[in-house]
Amino acid sequence: MSKPSETNVETLLEALPYIKEFHGRTVVIKYGGAAMRDESLRDAFATDVVLLKYVGLNPVVVHGGGPEITEHMERLGLEVRFHEGLRVSDAETVEVASMVLVGKLNSDIVQRLNRHGQPSVGLSGQDGSLFDVAPVPNAEQVGFVGTIERVDVDVLNHIAADYIPVIASSASDREGQSYNVNADEAAGKVAAALGAHKAIFLTDVVGWLADPADEGSLISRATVAEVEAGLASVEGGMRPKLQACLDAIRGGSQSAHIVDGRRPHSLLLELFTDAGIGTMVTP
Ligand code: ADP
Ligand code: MG
Repeated sequence: MSKPSETNVETLLEALPYIKEFHGRTVVIKYGGAAMRDESLRDAFATDVVLLKYVGLNPVVVHGGGPEITEHMERLGLEVRFHEGLRVSDAETVEVASMVLVGKLNSDIVQRLNRHGQPSVGLSGQDGSLFDVAPVPNAEQVGFVGTIERVDVDVLNHIAADYIPVIASSASDREGQSYNVNADEAAGKVAAALGAHKAIFLTDVVGWLADPADEGSLISRATVAEVEAGLASVEGGMRPKLQACLDAIRGGSQSAHIVDGRRPHSLLLELFTDAGIGTMVTP
């Protein structure tokens, strides 16, 4: 017997208890940032999600599109600004964001999953009245940014048994005004509403860092109480991500994970190996 095949068998055996634990469970995956920018990472992500479905999990993908939205705005000569991790959104920004999110990124992800062998369905907040949004409290600073007040998972329950739902983080209110919704917030609230087993956030750093300038300062485990205590001092895009971890766990998720989306197959590493990567938040 050659060494490589023994290693392969060990890897499969290591995965078995996890496959058993996760069978039939829902996992919400926040996809965005780094893992979405690079062609080989996009393909690795699709492979991972499709594999999850084949081994009996119900993956639900929620995605943002930060860098691509920024790129398109710059191309159109629109000003790009952030305030406390939220994109400052005037009417034009929201329009461009939803064109990029729904018209381009969402359909790219759906096509890729389909091609890898699992049929998937693209949705945004409007579909099946999935998200009910209201302007964020600091709308004066950030414009048309919405906060999700209610998630109606009925549409997800209808399709998730047969298809992989792929949700774009855009939504509109009852009057038809479109809003930008932070994709981390959307993923956390979808996980809570579904009572998902886990929520996993792919990002462009190794996880939550004690010192944002030092990649060696990874906080590999944190409880809800520890996240609550640290949240006020966290800035940028990490803050809505940690808040979303809290939302998921308060909604019943067993754990929420922030993992490095720059690393190929980080989803599989997190779910099916003993190693555990990134930051794990638990009750
Ligand atoms: P995405 O939502 O696509 O994952 P974001 O840029 O919104 O990416 O959020 C991740 C970013 O948050 C990191 O790249 C980093 O610049 C910033 N950040 C701020 N504080 C921290 C922290 N304490 N630990 C890790 N990242 C942090
Ligand atoms: Mg973000």
